[in-house]
Amino acid sequence: MLDAIVVGSGPNGLAAAVTLARAGLSVRVYERSEHLGGGSRTAELTEPGFHHDICSAVHPMAYASEFFQRFGLTERLEFITPEVSYANPLSPSHAALAWRDLERTAEGLGRDAGSWRALMRPLLNNLDAVSDAVSHSLLRVPRQPIPLARFAARALEQGSPLWNLAWQGDEAPALLTGVISHSIRPLPSIAPTAAGLVLAVYAHAGGWPIPVGGSQMITDALVADAVSHGVEFVTEHQVDSMDNLPSARAVIFDTSVAGLRKIAGDRMPRGYARALERYRPGNAAAKVDFALSGPIPWTNPELARTPTLHVCGTRADMARAENQVARGNHADSPYVLLSQPSLFDPTRAPAGKHAVWTYTHVPRGSTIDQTEAVTRQIERFAPGFRDLIISSSSHTAADLNNYNPNYIGGDIATGDVSLRQLIARPVLSPDPWRTAARGIYLCSAATPPGPGVHGLGGWRAALSALRNEFGIRREPDLSPSRC
Ligand SMILES: Cc1cc2nc3c(=O)[nH]c(=O)nc-3n(C[C@H](O)[C@H](O)[C@H](O)COP(=O)(O)OP(=O)(O)OC[C@H]3O[C@@H](n4cnc5c(N)ncnc54)[C@H](O)[C@@H]3O)c2cc1C
Repeated sequence: MLDAIVVGSGPNGLAAAVTLARAGLSVRVYERSEHLGGGSRTAELTEPGFHHDICSAVHPMAYASEFFQRFGLTERLEFITPEVSYANPLSPSHAALAWRDLERTAEGLGRDAGSWRALMRPLLNNLDAVSDAVSHSLLRVPRQPIPLARFAARALEQGSPLWNLAWQGDEAPALLTGVISHSIRPLPSIAPTAAGLVLAVYAHAGGWPIPVGGSQMITDALVADAVSHGVEFVTEHQVDSMDNLPSARAVIFDTSVAGLRKIAGDRMPRGYARALERYRPGNAAAKVDFALSGPIPWTNPELARTPTLHVCGTRADMARAENQVARGNHADSPYVLLSQPSLFDPTRAPAGKHAVWTYTHVPRGSTIDQTEAVTRQIERFAPGFRDLIISSSSHTAADLNNYNPNYIGGDIATGDVSLRQLIARPVLSPDPWRTAARGIYLCSAATPPGPGVHGLGGWRAALSALRNEFGIRREPDLSPSRC
């Protein structure tokens, strides 16, 4: 009999496997794909020599993650952390830039310099409190309630219809809306604002790093550690029923809530099963990757120093686009997330050429190719972009779902980031990773802290299983020195 089984090998599944194996347990991971890594993979999607991140590309969450700090991620692979974390072009010549340096950012925000400082400085000074809250269930009594109350107050204000009162210019609200829009929800709203504030404060703390070689390197580091601690991997094996699994004292699911219900729903007490039924997917993303013959010809040269951009325009432009998607339409001028890693990491593309990663937001289940919509949006701020395209690769929302069943209809967050599902993810519980069925755990982005490559869901689920199924209370050492 195995000690533990992990279903799914995304960053959370791998974090769970590493943690359990480091505690001395026998662990087997089942993965439906032929490749390990879920949302943390890199492949030649367009042309030979162009290495594109298939899903995640930019890693502020990994950098700040308590799990990855204990795992020593930055000792195991190389990250590049550019001076600019992210930027929003507002017109062909004008952009707002979030530098890692808060002061330098404020200096570029004109009349809103003081308001940006007033928003970010207290959060930055209490980064530990923010990261501690991200790393636990929101039902836990916080260690530092006062900074968190301040954080909640700002999320309420910037997530309310009064969100423009704090600002006088266009730059600061655009920077904030760029990060708030990651959650694919109508704007303004509170939960995406809380998630966005975390990303914004990380931009001024550790920055928004990219791994040399791509997100695959994060997966490779986790897999190498897991293998060296005896974890067994079974790929191309989709788990459809608990009955087809060998017996194990703990089974940890790196799946969607719908996947968990399908596989193990019959083992759940009725009340818990009903709570899971209430969990909802959100809207979706559609991805477009480009192989370019040269760098993107941004009209504003500062954008060539920026790894990650929110390409849409002003706060009002982004809110309009996101609200169109929330109403079930494709935005006529969409919000585009763009990363240009080969400007900083020469391993991503042949010399002089560039690999560009983008995605945009669309209604869940969309089958519409967004290549032209994304190209048009980039052309607004970089005329001539189109002429540099050697080839492109498109994944509609429906394609993303085929790639990974956790992304229902292309919902890359594995569950709507609504206020309810920020707190009850997937149910209201101080230990939301532990289900009500004996020995069954959920660790995916459908658990706190939600989407992102941070491994925290996997780590917390594994720690809960160690305590509750094996009586192991001591957290295993994850450091590279114990490899
Ligand atoms: C286009 C896109 C861009 C993104 N950009 C970023 C970014 O820049 N930064 C960031 O931090 N995050 C980003 N994310 C989000 C991030 O990738 C995910 O939140 C993260 O990968 C979730 O990790 P996970 O382990 O919960 O699940 P996943 O990474 O989704 O992995 C789940 C794994 O389980 C497998 N699986 C599912 N069901 C079964 C089954 N029944 N049997 C066997 N195997 C199964 C799947 O095949 C998959 O490999 C992005 C996501 C997408 C799609």
